[in-house]
Amino acid sequence: MADLLANPHEPDLELRRAMVVAARSLTAQGLNRGTSGNIGVRCGAAFLITPSGVAAEDLLPEKIVAMNYSGSIVGSGKPSSEWRFHRDILAARAEIGAVVHTHSRYATSLACLQREIPAFHYMIAMAGGDSIRCTPYAIFGSQALSDLALRALENRKACLLGNHGMIALGFDLTDAMALALEVESLCEQYWSALQLGEPKLLSGRQMQAVLKKFQGYGRRQPAGMDKAALSGSDLVADA
Ligand code: 13P
Ligand code: ZN
Repeated sequence: MADLLANPHEPDLELRRAMVVAARSLTAQGLNRGTSGNIGVRCGAAFLITPSGVAAEDLLPEKIVAMNYSGSIVGSGKPSSEWRFHRDILAARAEIGAVVHTHSRYATSLACLQREIPAFHYMIAMAGGDSIRCTPYAIFGSQALSDLALRALENRKACLLGNHGMIALGFDLTDAMALALEVESLCEQYWSALQLGEPKLLSGRQMQAVLKKFQGYGRRQPAGMDKAALSGSDLVADA
C-alpha cells in the first residue's frame, strides 16, 4: 500500500489526476484563489490530500500527498495544513469519499459574520438538512478547527468555517465538487435576498418534504446512500 500510494505511476494516479483537475476547476470557477482551499479523497486504507501552499496552476499529480489515518505521510510531500479535518471527516463518515474546502466569496463572507444559512431556499436540503451550520472561529490547520467542523457537519454534508470558508462533502470527488458549487450559489442567493429584506424561511415540515423528495434525485449514488443521508437528518426522524 505504501509504495502504491507514494508512486504516482501506480493505480492511484487516476485519482491524483482527478484531484488536479478539481483543484484547477475550483480556481477557474472562482471558488478558490491562489493557495486557498484544499481537497482530500479516500484512497483504500489511506487518503490523498493536496499539498500545502501550492496554487492549483502549479499542482501536479505527483505533488499530491498520501497519508494514513494516524496522520503520518506515506512517501513524501507536505500535506495541506488542514489534513486534520480531512482525516477526521473521512475517518468518522464512512459514506463520504471526498472533502472539498474553499474560501469562496459568498460562503466566506457569511462565515465572517459566523452566520448559519437557514432554510431560505429548498436547495439547502442538498447539504443534508434544514440549515448549513457555521462553526465559531479556530485557527487554520488546528485540531480545534477539525473538532468544530465535525460537530457542524453532524447530519450534514456541508458547513461554513467561522471567519474562514466552507467545507463540502461527497460520496466521491464529483459529488463533493458539485455540492461546493451549490453551497456557494446558495450563499450568494442568501446574501442577495438579505439585501432586499428578511427572507421568508421554509418550515420544518416543508423541508422534510423536500428531503424526502430528494431521495434518489439526480446522479446515482451507491446503494443505500440517499436513505442513509435521509435517516441521518434530524428533520426526518419520523419520515
Ligand atoms: P493549505 O495550502 O495548507 O492547504 O492551506 C490552505 C487553506 O485553505 C488553509 O485553510
Ligand atoms: Zn482554508
